[in-house]
Amino acid sequence: MRRNTHLITTIFLLLLISLQETSIQGYEDSAARNLKQELGEAHEVHCSRERSRAAWDIIEEYLMPFVEQEQYQISSKCRLHPDNDMFRDQEKHKIHVDINEWRCGYCKKSFRAEKFLDQHFDNRHYNLLNVSHSKCLADLCGALHCDFVMKSKSSKSKCNPAAVARNRHLCESFANSCFPINQGPSASRLHELFLRQFCDAHTCPGKAKPFPKGGKKQTSILYLAVSILILMLLPIFYLIVFLYQREMRRGTQELRRISRVGQKTKPS
Ligand SMILES: [Zn+2]
Repeated sequence: MRRNTHLITTIFLLLLISLQETSIQGYEDSAARNLKQELGEAHEVHCSRERSRAAWDIIEEYLMPFVEQEQYQISSKCRLHPDNDMFRDQEKHKIHVDINEWRCGYCKKSFRAEKFLDQHFDNRHYNLLNVSHSKCLADLCGALHCDFVMKSKSSKSKCNPAAVARNRHLCESFANSCFPINQGPSASRLHELFLRQFCDAHTCPGKAKPFPKGGKKQTSILYLAVSILILMLLPIFYLIVFLYQREMRRGTQELRRISRVGQKTKPS
């Protein structure tokens, strides 16, 4: 009898531990939010600005170049739409004057670092936030690999199959809602791209790297290199054309002179 109760408590404890473990990865954001809630902050925004920014940067870098290329309009129902980021307006009102100077676009106050401007936004311009649960971009972080980009988690941390499956599911749901396959060839191409770019890397062990299709930076470097090359070659090209035309003109003048001389010597 006593042995049985021992066994039951052990099983119960093991279950509790495993439950806790599965909830670690995916629920970190909501846990942080709950903690903040408990602490009772002055202006409670249950959404991480830093992680929202990371999610936004990822979308900008690894998705938008392809969306622009396809000239596709993301619906506002899609969680990736800029309107669904509560911090977007504030982020647009950040003026980076110098390395050590950040200015508030609303009241023109200056700060030494971005984090102080963030605090200023939280304290002074809180009313400008559209605080709604569906507008927290940080909630998308699991699907969009924010941790990979922010390097906040060591690569050695154990892969959690339950969390990975949940993130993969979340990722696929974004592909379905933002790029529905029944909305034409552009949407289905972007749907496919989204799966490859973001969802495929949600595997255990996490050996697959996200964003295999590349992003904005690489294309912009390529563009920069090509445009510099063109800019350098253009003057040389014009110089060659100019010299060639000058030679041609000189040639015809010479010919004219020769023919004139020929006409003069001809006796009439
Ligand atoms: Zn301000």
